[in-house]
Amino acid sequence: MPENKVTKAVVCPMCGELSKAEIYTSVNPTIQKGIRGRVLDGELFSWICPSCNHSARLTYPILYNDMKNRFMVYLIPKFDRFQLCDKELEQKYSNLRNINKRVVPTFNLFKEKIFIFESGLDDMSVELTKLAISQTVSKKLDGEKITEGYLSMYDRESNTMGFTYFIGEECEPYVQTARLEIYGKSKDIVDEFALKDKKLKGFIKIDREWAENILYRYKRAKHIEKLNKLKE
Ligand SMILES: [Zn+2]
Repeated sequence: MPENKVTKAVVCPMCGELSKAEIYTSVNPTIQKGIRGRVLDGELFSWICPSCNHSARLTYPILYNDMKNRFMVYLIPKFDRFQLCDKELEQKYSNLRNINKRVVPTFNLFKEKIFIFESGLDDMSVELTKLAISQTVSKKLDGEKITEGYLSMYDRESNTMGFTYFIGEECEPYVQTARLEIYGKSKDIVDEFALKDKKLKGFIKIDREWAENILYRYKRAKHIEKLNKLKE
């Protein structure tokens, strides 16, 4: 068995039977033909009980290592810290430089990161753009709460990007497109206020919470600038 696969014991949630499942600890789409599609459509995580045919989705940590596009996304279910400190992993990939390394807690965020990096976008700027546009959408919908949002479209030719947000208790999907200028502006803010995070070596979590923090720092700096101008 290749080193990136392990056998795990699985107890069927339906019949309680104990069986085995082969799971990937890491995948490499540059080397493994066809694995990208199997990851993105969730097939890689599907499991069928050999005794009762019950099908389920297994959730377990998996590292997606796209060497060609120079990014790694580590899906660790329910991961709730900002940074993953894994010495063994760091040493294994220590010779690789300028690689975007991210950790995500859910399958949807996992897929979104892959889409962002494959599109050649900067995920920090995307996250900031997503936050800014979600505030516009919320205002448009009389302050409706936005539970989550994902980059769902990117078209360089028409100069647009699109986000799908999930609104209110019902989690109704809502698509909002934006011009790339907003992304450009976000990029400027990231360059000025997120330099420290850009230099971090480990796997980090770049999400809405992170974007809120950057936006807060940006607004505070603007505010201080304004106050200083008034004093002059
Ligand atoms: Zn079963």
